[in-house]
Amino acid sequence: MTCTEKTSPVWHPFSQHKLEPAFKKIVTTEGAYLIDDDGRSVLDAISSWWVITHRHRHPKITEAIRLAAERYDQIIFAEYTHEPAEEFARGLIKLAPREMAHVFYTDSGSTAVEVALKMALGFFHNSGAKRSRVIVMEHGYHGDTIGTMSAGERGVFNAAYTPLLFNVDTIPFPKPGCEQQTLDALERLCRSGDVAALLIEPLVLGAGGMKMYPAHLLAEFRRITQRYGTLLIADEVMTGWGRTGSLFACTATGLMPDILCLSKGITGGALPLAVTLCTAEIFDAHLSEDRRRTFFHSSSYSANPIACAAAVANLRIWRTEPVSQRIETVATMHRDRLARFQSDPRFTNIRQQGTIAALDLAADSTGYLSEVGPRLRTFFRHRDVLIRPLGNVIYLMPPYCVTEADMDKAYNAIDEAPDFILSAAR
Ligand SMILES: *Cc1c(COP(=O)(O)O)cnc(C)c1O
Repeated sequence: MTCTEKTSPVWHPFSQHKLEPAFKKIVTTEGAYLIDDDGRSVLDAISSWWVITHRHRHPKITEAIRLAAERYDQIIFAEYTHEPAEEFARGLIKLAPREMAHVFYTDSGSTAVEVALKMALGFFHNSGAKRSRVIVMEHGYHGDTIGTMSAGERGVFNAAYTPLLFNVDTIPFPKPGCEQQTLDALERLCRSGDVAALLIEPLVLGAGGMKMYPAHLLAEFRRITQRYGTLLIADEVMTGWGRTGSLFACTATGLMPDILCLSKGITGGALPLAVTLCTAEIFDAHLSEDRRRTFFHSSSYSANPIACAAAVANLRIWRTEPVSQRIETVATMHRDRLARFQSDPRFTNIRQQGTIAALDLAADSTGYLSEVGPRLRTFFRHRDVLIRPLGNVIYLMPPYCVTEADMDKAYNAIDEAPDFILSAAR
């Protein structure tokens, strides 16, 4: 039976239950597809909200989970440790930016960022420096908890919670030709002296609309923050695990953050897990015979052993399978198909970073921007393609197993979408 809002007690995320069509029940997943209870296969063109990297149910990850579940369940992660957490941390440190020395486990991207902010403030608190301000980038997104909403773009999504959000300083998004304004704003803010950290999504701002900026700015951000002793936190929750074309945006661009947040693709998308990595300097600032300097953070499910085992299997896949080659193939498939939209007046801002492709539906081809997102979503759903536009921004972020035929299906649907939306409006 199809599960609708009228019969189910479930409250779904980011869903207006009054307006949503029935929630389709998925009975299994396979490769790049979700299979529903009518037996239809839906192309998961956004990797189930950006978490699935290689493919749904990669056999090696499934097997690692099965084996781990026979041996472990949750194990308290204070006082005790376990091999999956140790093995993953060791493996990750080898692949992460050189300065990263320690790995702190949590269970979601939001908590990874919360931990990053707490590490930054703890660092200065324990060092006796009065620094507590945080600089973020316009259009940034870092999660949906109170702390991460405070650091993210303000708008309709968090209007109700504004009274609880703390103040941050915002630098403008570096629009082409206006990059210097962003750098000047950063320098001005850092110079004030009470800034603990700059928190950024490297290369691509995800939920803010797949906004992309060039790698050379990351070097500038690092240079400026370094000059003023401001910590740099890289939120790679979305950009990590191959999305932007290499394992991490940081390592590909030579960015050396002080703190690095990872989640989403960390288990290949199979189980929830997150890590916050930091330098030895930040860890050492918490190292003391004084217990008040302890890093006071824990989640009940810190370093869940089954999730860690999935993450270990993911690392092994990166080591032993031609993942980089697959990513390059996905990138090439995007490039070839995006070309036909370059001179298409219905679309603007055609852009790509690795396996992420995005384009904006030109506003004047719709007339009512506010409703265009849900309408597009319905159209794509009828085409058995899962695409969830961010307003008028249509993007694809498929698992790395997509085929040429899958990509044709997704791009043909995008090509037909504006005309469908227009004719429906008439
Ligand atoms: C998704 C996302 C988060 C939040 O991750 P959750 O696991 O949903 O809490 C944080 N930062 C970025 C850049 C993200 O894309």
